[in-house]
Amino acid sequence: MSSERSINFSAGPAIIPESVLQKASKEMLNWNNTGMSLMELSHRSGPFKELIAKIEQDLIDLLKIPETHKVLFLQGGAHFMFSGVPLNLMGENGKGDYILTGNWSTRAMNEAKKYGKVNVVCKPDEFNKIPPKEEWNLSTDASYVYYCDNETVKGVEFPDIPDVGDVPLVCDMSSNFLSRPFDVSKFGCVYACAQKNFGMAGLTIAIVRKDLIGKQLPYTPMMLDFELQAKANSMFNTPSTYAIYIAGLIFDWLKEQGGLEEIAKINLKKCKLIYDAIDNSNGFYKSPVEIKSRSRMNIPFVCKNKEWESEWLEGAAKLKLVSLKGHRSVGGFRASIYNAMSYEGCEKLVNYMIDFMKTKEK
Ligand code: PMP
Repeated sequence: MSSERSINFSAGPAIIPESVLQKASKEMLNWNNTGMSLMELSHRSGPFKELIAKIEQDLIDLLKIPETHKVLFLQGGAHFMFSGVPLNLMGENGKGDYILTGNWSTRAMNEAKKYGKVNVVCKPDEFNKIPPKEEWNLSTDASYVYYCDNETVKGVEFPDIPDVGDVPLVCDMSSNFLSRPFDVSKFGCVYACAQKNFGMAGLTIAIVRKDLIGKQLPYTPMMLDFELQAKANSMFNTPSTYAIYIAGLIFDWLKEQGGLEEIAKINLKKCKLIYDAIDNSNGFYKSPVEIKSRSRMNIPFVCKNKEWESEWLEGAAKLKLVSLKGHRSVGGFRASIYNAMSYEGCEKLVNYMIDFMKTKEK
């Protein structure tokens, strides 16, 4: 890694592999011998159509997306999907089941209430765990069951895909998409915004089961209409071309890393390193999350004296370890270690955590 680069633990927009940034920078003025930047290229041009088709195929290969599902390149961030999900999927029943495990799933539910009925399947008092299935209250007549696979703010992640029977499962995977393989066929709809694990803000990818497309409510805005977007192959209006291009470079990078199986192994090693440092600190550092629900991507933690927090952050910044402040609603620290964060970056963080602890425990 070049020495001027920070070791960026931001929750998003987040770190991007340096080789991807270098390639984008090399191609900035003349992409693929077109004599123009990708940003300047018409989305209706042959070269762009070829590019987006390749990128879609790369995603299909990486995730082994079955024929039954359609990939959509959308805009408006994950928030747009908070509305897009009920508008497209609530259908005749007009009801969605929501599993609440943090502020993002709660926000999605509140948006859904505008379009129909919602049922809260579970809601732990504190968002620090995934409640066991015995405590869930699933409806018998919901059009879908919604959950957020990884709650970015408090660092709570589902260890496995929940089993909800035949009801279509809908998932916000914004902060752990492509961090490990998963069985796409289990989902009615899974979506993620790009600015965490596959590039820059401005792009949201949704993977929707084809038989669920076409059930939108009559007043669904054009831009959120899955049927319209699917028919136009995500080119209904001008898509976020540059963000799509960057996502494509990241898919190439993921393939070079050995695909999602390999990335998942590295991600496990990275989070184990940091959780071990927390758990072996004799209470100097603490993770507020129940062990089996701990996120592999976002690790919130506190140190035993709140008054040391700014000193800790300043010391970290001197070593170029940045964006470690916890979410404003939570405080403490948070290390977001998406795919592009190297194992070495995590080691530097852990060494710093131990050094800081030693200076205080002297
Ligand atoms: N869902 C999750 C899990 C997130 O982490 C975030 C954002 N940080 C969002 C939704 C909202 O994303 P956006 O800002 O793209 O709307």
